[in-house]
Amino acid sequence: MKIAVVGAGIVGVSIAAELASRGAEVVLLDRNPAGSGTSSTSFAWVNSNNKHPDAYYELNLAGMHAHHKLAASDGEWFHPTGHVELAVDSEHRKELQQRLKRLASLGYITELPDVKQTIQLIPDLLLPGGESTTAFYPLEAHIDPVCYVEKRLEGAVSLGVTFLSPVEVQSLEPQDGGCLLGLDDGNSMLVDRVVSATGRWTNEIARLAGLPPFMLEFQGPGDPTMGYLAVTNPLPLSLSRVLTSPRLNVRPAPGGRLILQALDLDATAEVGRQPAADSSLAQEYIYRLREILGHTSGARIDEIQVARRAIPRDGLSIIGAPVDKPWLYLVATHSGVTLAPFLGERVAAEIFGNTEPLFDSFRPDRLLRPSKVATFAAPRRPGEQ
Ligand SMILES: Cc1cc2nc3c(=O)[nH]c(=O)nc-3n(C[C@H](O)[C@H](O)[C@H](O)COP(=O)(O)OP(=O)(O)OC[C@H]3O[C@@H](n4cnc5c(N)ncnc54)[C@H](O)[C@@H]3O)c2cc1C
Repeated sequence: MKIAVVGAGIVGVSIAAELASRGAEVVLLDRNPAGSGTSSTSFAWVNSNNKHPDAYYELNLAGMHAHHKLAASDGEWFHPTGHVELAVDSEHRKELQQRLKRLASLGYITELPDVKQTIQLIPDLLLPGGESTTAFYPLEAHIDPVCYVEKRLEGAVSLGVTFLSPVEVQSLEPQDGGCLLGLDDGNSMLVDRVVSATGRWTNEIARLAGLPPFMLEFQGPGDPTMGYLAVTNPLPLSLSRVLTSPRLNVRPAPGGRLILQALDLDATAEVGRQPAADSSLAQEYIYRLREILGHTSGARIDEIQVARRAIPRDGLSIIGAPVDKPWLYLVATHSGVTLAPFLGERVAAEIFGNTEPLFDSFRPDRLLRPSKVATFAAPRRPGEQ
C-alpha cells in the first residue's frame, strides 16, 4: 500500500513511522521544515486532566499511556516527572475539588501533597501566605516536541519513509480508488491513501478534497486559536516538572530555560503582532514568575511566541475518513502533543483494517452537520490548554 502523509508535525511523523513499521510504502511531505508548525510552539504538557466529554478524556488518557510505552524503549524527548497544580483562590480551589472528584471516579492518579512534600516536588516554589491547595498528578509529563519530531522522523526514514520538503500539496484528485496528488514542484504522485496531518491548515486540504471547513479560523485578538508562550533565559532554579497556577503555567525547556503561559494574557494575542521581549507583556510574565518561583531575580524574557492552535470546530479531535472519500484520512487535534504516539499507532492500525473504538466519537462526518456543532470557548481557566 502506498500512502502519502501530508504534514510533518508531531502527528504526521508519528503516523508515518507507524505506517512504515507495518510495511506501507510511505511518502511524508511538508512545505516547511519538519516540526515547524504548531508543534514548535506548544506548552507540550502530556495530560488528560481536564478533558471533556469522557470519550475525549479516554482518548487523552490513551495518549498519556502511549507516551510512557514509547519512551520506555527510546524517549529522550519525554519527561515523566508529573504536574503540580497550585490553587490559591477560592474559585480555583472549589473547581479543583470538583475536578479531583471526577478524576478519582475515572481512576486517574492524583495526590494531595502537604507543604513539605510540595516543596520536595518543587524546591523553588514560593507558597502563598493564605490558604492554598496543591494537587500532584504523577503520570502526567511534558515533552520536548522538537526532539520528538527529530527522533521520530529519523526512525521513520530508517524504516524506509521518503521525506519530501519543501513540497506543498496543491491538488487532490481521486483516481483508480486512490488519489493523485499535485505538488508545487510540478510533480504528481499516485497513492492508495492520503493521510492529512496538516493541523491548523486542515481546512486547505478539506477544500482541495471538496469538503467544507473542519477547523476554527482566526477571527480576532484573543480568540480560541491564539495564545502566547514566553521563553525565559536559562535560570539557576530547580524545576523538573509542569507547574500550573491561576496566574501562570510553567514548564522546563531545554538549556535551563522555562516556558511560561498565562491564559488570561492570551486575550490580546493576534496573528501578525509579535510582542517584543522587553514589552510590558514580557514584564508581566516576569512579575508573575517571581511571584511563584524563587531564584528568578535574573529572569528575563528572550522571546514571546505567538502560537496558533489547531482546533476542530467543536474543540474535539478529527480522526478518520469522510464517509464518501475512503482514499482520504483526516487527523487534526488541539491535544496533538498528548495524542501523537497513540494516534501514530492506532491510525496506522485503522488504515490496515483494525478499527479503533476510542476514535468512534471523533469521526470527521459529525462536523459536516453544522447544527450539531457546539461553540468552543478560548481556554482561560486553570487546567485548560
Ligand atoms: C499555545 C499552545 C499550547 C499548547 N499546549 C499543548 C499541551 O500542553 N498539550 C498538548 O497535548 N497539546 C498542546 N498544544 C497543541 C499541540 O501543540 C498541537 O495539537 C500539535 O502541535 C499539532 O501538531 P500537528 O502535527 O497536528 O500540526 P503541525 O505541527 O502544525 O504540523 C502540520 C504541518 O503540516 C504542514 N502542511 C500544512 N499544509 C500543507 C500542505 N498543503 N502541503 C504540505 N505541508 C503542509 C505544515 O507546514 C506543518 O508542518 C498547544 C498548542 C498551542 C498553540
